[in-house]
Amino acid sequence: TDGFPEELAERVQRRSATFGASSVLFYEQPIEMVRAEGAYMYGADGRRYLDVYNNVPSVGHCHPRVVEAISRQAAAINIHTRYLTRIVETYSERLLATFPAPLSNLVMTCTGSESNDLAMRIARTGSGAEGFIVTEAAYHGNTALVTEISPSALKTRKPAAFVRTVPAPAGDDDPSTVGARFAADVEAAIADLNREGLGVAALVVDSIFSSDGIYADPAGFLRPAVEAVRRAGGVFIADEVQPGFGRTGSGLWGFSRHGVVPDIVTMGKPMGNGFPMGGVVTRPELLEKFCAETGYFNTFGGNPVAAAAGLAVLDVIADEGLTENAATVGFHLAEGLRALKDRHAAIGGVRGAGLFIGLDFIAPEGGGPDTQLATHVINEMKKNGILIGAAGKYGATLKIRPPLCFSKADADQVVETLSGILGNR
Ligand code: PMP
Repeated sequence: TDGFPEELAERVQRRSATFGASSVLFYEQPIEMVRAEGAYMYGADGRRYLDVYNNVPSVGHCHPRVVEAISRQAAAINIHTRYLTRIVETYSERLLATFPAPLSNLVMTCTGSESNDLAMRIARTGSGAEGFIVTEAAYHGNTALVTEISPSALKTRKPAAFVRTVPAPAGDDDPSTVGARFAADVEAAIADLNREGLGVAALVVDSIFSSDGIYADPAGFLRPAVEAVRRAGGVFIADEVQPGFGRTGSGLWGFSRHGVVPDIVTMGKPMGNGFPMGGVVTRPELLEKFCAETGYFNTFGGNPVAAAAGLAVLDVIADEGLTENAATVGFHLAEGLRALKDRHAAIGGVRGAGLFIGLDFIAPEGGGPDTQLATHVINEMKKNGILIGAAGKYGATLKIRPPLCFSKADADQVVETLSGILGNR
């Protein structure tokens, strides 16, 4: 089909024969990628693509310091966690030093899903309750337990009986009442869980509401809901898999924008800049209670190579001022996109924090979310050498989430290209 090399079309088919229904690729005409550097990826077609989507290589694709740290440690020793290894001790203390007091214990895992699975189990032993509250289009991972609190991954049924969903803040929520509205919904969910005799173990929130459509403001709106859960005997789990490690542009953690200290924090994706690693940070008494009831062992979690990757990531974020870069470039980009909104009726809203921005497409004359236009824009952006994705309940929100080394010039390129694609829409 129009200009797509036959050889690639054949490979796509063979791949889908191998992976079956689980084969998912981006784009109508998928790209073969061969290398990457900073905010750019390079295709086998010889083209350079600006990456506005990937938050895993968060400090920049193939960052030389991370690559060097991984290689050096892999050549020295890589073993599970039941020996003393200096780099693992150094890393865990460095990471914990970035969290507010009572959060002083770390369990290392390999993925965000594992982290949330463990967090849910810790919340249950800690609270003695069974129920969980999450947002309507949340995604928290892929284990059997975590899938139940990931409504966006459940295509044909509702979450399990121990889960209640609440609407995420929406673009048209009044900023002065959104906190109270969210808390009221959480309170209703608590009452319902109590009626069923389940009680509330935890409220689990991605503090930037990534898969719900990216809702960051007003800072602080999470607080009343967290207080309501604690009054009911539950804990607050902040899923920092998406906002964590500097992306929001104010400190390392998304929850800090809301002026709350979680009981449990879960991490993944950007933690090792592509090296698979995750973690759970919590209060010692919660972990103690859990470990007294259930042994926990993770063969690969906290291995020395992961610690080396994680340590290099923390160093690069600090040395290259990436949190500050997320704030300044994110602000510049959001300003550019808001200026576009004034010129293009198809853009409904622009919101976010740091280098995590959501931009809604709306159909003409109150037609609601425009999923088709979002898909069109994503494919046209690719033709123009820019990689970007969608989020939200309807997939009509552009998910703007580049590596944190993104420059103002990169941001300008995104704005100009988007403007050209929208034309007179
Ligand atoms: N939590 C959030 C908010 C996520 O976005 C994801 C992954 N998209 C996960 C958890 C799960 O992480 P992983 O894929 O590493 O298991």
